[in-house]
Amino acid sequence: MLLEVRDLHVEFRTRDGVAHAVNGVDYAVDRGETLAVLGESGSGKSVTAQAVMGILDTPPGRITGGRVLFRGRDLLALKEEERRRLRGADLAMVFQDALSALNPVLTVGAQLAELFTVHRGMSRKEARARAVELMDRVRIPAAAQRVGDYPHQFSGGMRQRIMIAMALALEPGLIIADEPTTALDVTVQAQVMDLLAELQREYDMGLILITHDLGVVADVADRIAVMYAGRIVERAPVHDLYKAPAHPYTRGLLDSIPRLDRKGRELYAIKGLPPNLMDIPPGCAFHPRCPMARDVCRAQVPPLYEVDEERGSACHFWRECLDGRTG
Ligand code: SF4
Repeated sequence: MLLEVRDLHVEFRTRDGVAHAVNGVDYAVDRGETLAVLGESGSGKSVTAQAVMGILDTPPGRITGGRVLFRGRDLLALKEEERRRLRGADLAMVFQDALSALNPVLTVGAQLAELFTVHRGMSRKEARARAVELMDRVRIPAAAQRVGDYPHQFSGGMRQRIMIAMALALEPGLIIADEPTTALDVTVQAQVMDLLAELQREYDMGLILITHDLGVVADVADRIAVMYAGRIVERAPVHDLYKAPAHPYTRGLLDSIPRLDRKGRELYAIKGLPPNLMDIPPGCAFHPRCPMARDVCRAQVPPLYEVDEERGSACHFWRECLDGRTG
């Protein structure tokens, strides 16, 4: 297995108390595979990714338990210097906001070329040629002419392609893309997603796609892990999950996606707000918002029940949910 996250716990100590951001997350992704990690903001999806990458703000953040195994090595046990070497070369990240992730005073060519001079010991001329190749590979039109342009001279979609080129430059085993298309319009979103999927296959990488939008990952992910209040509440192959979710939260997310076959019908919205991570509701954290909640839900934390070999649901009543009895 390329990456295994096991029983990860992360908390943030603030003046107001301790926020339990990640509460026992397990997931795994292999080479050639795409895992989508889905959840609302505050669900712990990005914090988990930051812990994997070793870029968590500490303090206030603190990993309080668990392991992150990359090719069998526990990243949490490595020295900062070793982790830094792994980042970029073996593990890379694509961020949501390319404009703030890129250096505004350096040309994109210089930023790409630097990766090759620093990590691969190439000459400046070779590195620049590789930068143009990569820009071409992520389909920046007229790459050879645009290699000397600055980030602000590119559109949002093109900047995101440059971020992808930077992540890809050293051919890492795993890329984590955190909401890579959120700031883009719908057509450009689809193009960037398709490009990521194509490169993932071509380079046989593992890809973790973090998103709050079920709609954008349907065609590119193999498996989905749905997070709520710092836990995985459902995991499933993507087609199974779309066909019949086994958790009321996932069902709510699916029902809130606009669909052509439901034109004219009001869109469903999950009632209430995500929980305060300093005061997570007892029992099932989703119970204050769940249309199926019963007494047991308020008292007992549901474990991740095995639905079948490939699926799990942290709902006491997953069978009813799977059958569509969600009332
Ligand atoms: Fe809803 Fe209960 Fe299932 Fe939680 S355990 S999702 S409250 S039915």
